[in-house]
Amino acid sequence: MSVYQKCIPQAYYASIFEIPYQKLKEQGINSLFFDLDNTIIAYDEVELNHKQIEFIKDLQKDFKVLILSNTNFKRVSLALNKVDLPFIWYAKKPLKFGFKKALKILDAKKEETVIIGDQLMTDVFGANRVGIGSILVASVKRKSDRAITKFNRKIEAVILKKIQKKAPDLYNERLKLYVDSH
Ligand SMILES: [Mg+2]
Repeated sequence: MSVYQKCIPQAYYASIFEIPYQKLKEQGINSLFFDLDNTIIAYDEVELNHKQIEFIKDLQKDFKVLILSNTNFKRVSLALNKVDLPFIWYAKKPLKFGFKKALKILDAKKEETVIIGDQLMTDVFGANRVGIGSILVASVKRKSDRAITKFNRKIEAVILKKIQKKAPDLYNERLKLYVDSH
């Protein structure tokens, strides 16, 4: 499988709140990894707000949930200050070890796990390398992307063009709305 194929998510939704979690549960998914930055909160936000906390608590009734983030310990621990949730910092997505560690922490099987994130090059690519599902969401506030993410976005743009050319149906189904969202 070539790189562009590994950057195609299983689905796209406008935000974490739009995902049909009940349907995922019916499909046998019992574990969810969430990216943090620009998936749950913008880079310029420090802590999860009340709505986000209640939302995650609700999900924890049906799923094992973990935050898989490439950012530092201080930022992740502060963001999750008010919610009891396992997390991995400096995950170095798309490398595999963070995903594998996360599976171990949740005692989860890869075919029963999905990651939800806002970047093709880290969240989706990493998930497909490890063999877990991936759901792409629009960034909360793309203007707040940090330098490394801005760099990833440039590669992402090239990959998106390639997918559009090589797999137009999948592009239209899963990525067009993502591209249109920013
Ligand atoms: Mg992100």
